[in-house]
Amino acid sequence: MNLNYPLTYINGISNARASLLSGELNLSRLHDLLHFFPYRYIDRTKFYKIAELINNNTDIQLVGRVVEMKTIKQKRGSRLVAKFQDDTGSMELVWFKGHKWIKDSIKINTPYIIYGKLNFFNGNFSIAHPEMELVENYKRKRQSKLQPVYSSTEKLVNSGLSNKILRGYVQNLLQQVYEGIQETLPVPFMEQYKLIDKKQALLNIHFPNSPELLARAQQRLKFEELFFIQLQLLRKKLIRKNKIKGYVFEQVGENFTTFYNKHLPFALTDAQKRVLKEIRKDVGSHAHMNRLLQGDVGSGKTIVALLTMLLAIDNGFQATIMAPTEILATQHYNAIDELLKNMDVSVELLTGSTKAKKRKEIHSSLEDGSLKILIGTHALLEDKVQFQNLGIAIIDEQHRFGVAQRSKMWQKNELPPHILVMTATPIPRTLAMSVYGDLDISVIDELPPGRKEVKTVHRYDSNRLSVFNFMKQEIQKGRQVYVVYPLIQESEAMDYKDLMDGYESISREFPSPNYQISIVHGKMKAEDKEFEMQRFVKGETQIMVATTVIEVGVNVPNASVMVIESSERFGLSQLHQLRGRVGRGADQSYCILLSSFKLSSEAKTRLQTMVETSDGFKIAEVDLKLRGPGNIMGTQQSGVLNLKIADVVKDTPILQKARSAAIELLQNDPNLSKPENAVIQRTYSELSKRTGAWSNIS
Ligand code: ADP
Ligand code: MG
Repeated sequence: MNLNYPLTYINGISNARASLLSGELNLSRLHDLLHFFPYRYIDRTKFYKIAELINNNTDIQLVGRVVEMKTIKQKRGSRLVAKFQDDTGSMELVWFKGHKWIKDSIKINTPYIIYGKLNFFNGNFSIAHPEMELVENYKRKRQSKLQPVYSSTEKLVNSGLSNKILRGYVQNLLQQVYEGIQETLPVPFMEQYKLIDKKQALLNIHFPNSPELLARAQQRLKFEELFFIQLQLLRKKLIRKNKIKGYVFEQVGENFTTFYNKHLPFALTDAQKRVLKEIRKDVGSHAHMNRLLQGDVGSGKTIVALLTMLLAIDNGFQATIMAPTEILATQHYNAIDELLKNMDVSVELLTGSTKAKKRKEIHSSLEDGSLKILIGTHALLEDKVQFQNLGIAIIDEQHRFGVAQRSKMWQKNELPPHILVMTATPIPRTLAMSVYGDLDISVIDELPPGRKEVKTVHRYDSNRLSVFNFMKQEIQKGRQVYVVYPLIQESEAMDYKDLMDGYESISREFPSPNYQISIVHGKMKAEDKEFEMQRFVKGETQIMVATTVIEVGVNVPNASVMVIESSERFGLSQLHQLRGRVGRGADQSYCILLSSFKLSSEAKTRLQTMVETSDGFKIAEVDLKLRGPGNIMGTQQSGVLNLKIADVVKDTPILQKARSAAIELLQNDPNLSKPENAVIQRTYSELSKRTGAWSNIS
């Protein structure tokens, strides 16, 4: 039977029920129901004795006989009560509806298996509306020991579509289509990855013959699901690489070599060298580079960016860096200008506040090719900004730019420039694999040597006084301090009150003229913010009181203390970003997480994680576990949330296996055209037809 047929082809499913199932559970074809997997299983191997029952309100299964039944009048209506006994004692079964039918159908003094939720009332055990089956029938049917439980809705249950009924439908369906279920993976492939076949897997995912077979069924179906997703992502990448040509940076020339040998201010870390190699491989290959560079705050992405740009320049191209804010762009400009001070490479900065005259100069030197490196903000995206031949665009903090925005600068180009996106927000590898499978990913997972880890502690509000004293000691030593308050949209008014109250109490504790305090928050005008920020940057103020506006950006190596107020209200990645503001200089730095005494268990985990580790990737993993993939950037359109059985967080090992399998397959057969891969090709193209969703990634 064709699995595209509607559910009404299953024995027992009427038109009315089919439309209920379609409306409530989005099940309309046979295929849908076959792939509607149980979310848990009831262990039906376990039988209880009445004498050993305890009052724990769980689902239990018993064998015994109904010895008598009576109807008892209540205030409203009546209830039917049966005395049920086994060789150890007796209990009650109760029905509030359907008396007549039950009374007629239950056989007195005949062995039954009953199943239901145990109640305890007035010293008596009872089960209301139990599932009942004659032992005689039970023995005749082929029983699955683990009984599936499917997710349902209230409407379904109220319409009589109980789990038992649904189970029956799936059973009928399997009987009707089992022989015709098509395999989706080649036999040698299944052998290689130790997977059971599709039929076995589907049968055992619904009606497991044993816990072992259930586990193998889950393994097979999860593997398959993740494998085909990876296959789609990787093929897309392959097609892009073959189709979209990129400029070749063939030679390592004068600029790169001179800088590398003479002006590099430090030895590169191994991680930086590795990433640089990865980039050089891309740009040397005729393919178009589309690479994500992840590296924690302070891991040294800037120097990698600069060396990449020098490579472009050596091959006759121009280069650009785009940053999300003026402060960040300026910082990049200053850093790169400083690094290039002994080199003959022109660098300019273009932002919203660049004066008209300067702007004109930049425009023309860009167009005639004499300007080699341009650093800037969104201002770079204006139509007037046109490079003569842009070879590489480096984008800092990707999520601030939409993809569409990236295009105008290189309209003079023959080919699109290589793209390197730098981000300090680590995305767990597992998630990156399933979300950004289409991008290449490089990771700087090592901090430059000699960097002191930021000492992080958690303190309750009641210890604020000693925190103030600590701040005074550090300021005494010439250091600067951040005090950050949460600002969360819904409670904006209250948050501002907290911020201003905090500012006042800090002003009292740290009076002028001995202390100077900056304050920066979102309601201030941009120029006032900038002014306050600059005072702090220049060291004119010792304390910066702020909302999270400082999250992205500022580099003040002299600031060595980060105090986070109401830290329990921040997300993990935010806390990590904030902590990254300190620890940039030579001094020991500190991060103090203040919180109230009452903490949710999640908040406790967050704060504890911060205290225990400063590894951005570990933090991102914990964050993913706490919040689920739905809240992590970039996942919304990616489909990782629509997985039927696999879980990108819990099934990492399977994901990795499935990914390597897909890679290996494509290495041997990039077009899936070999006869032995025909099965995969068929499934792949059916899937591509059905899931347009996967094409939205990247
Ligand atoms: P981020 O990855 O946050 O952009 P930066 O590129 O700004 O990091 O580097 C942070 C600091 O570390 C800078 O002061 C930079 O000069 C320094 N740095 C980068 N790489 C190294 C290295 N290999 N050895 C020593 N210091 C380094
Ligand atoms: Mg940086």
